[in-house]
Amino acid sequence: MAHKIDLGKCISCGTCDVECPRHAIIISDEGKFSIDEEKCVDCGICAGVCPVDAASKG
Ligand code: SF4
Ligand code: SF4
Repeated sequence: MAHKIDLGKCISCGTCDVECPRHAIIISDEGKFSIDEEKCVDCGICAGVCPVDAASKG
């Protein structure tokens, strides 16, 4: 089970992308953030650093 990003909360600050040790954060052409389930190892760092609690265990 990978972590997920709640697009209703995400403010696209980019912190999770900087901090993810697996480079699992995907940013679409429209600037929407999501998580690559194949790369995510569920470490929880993105959830810990997200300022608006948009990233959580899926
Ligand atoms: S849980 Fe860890 S590996 Fe998965 S997206 Fe978040 S920071 Fe990256
Ligand atoms: S840290 Fe949170 S608010 Fe910032 S881009 Fe990632 S999910 Fe969105």
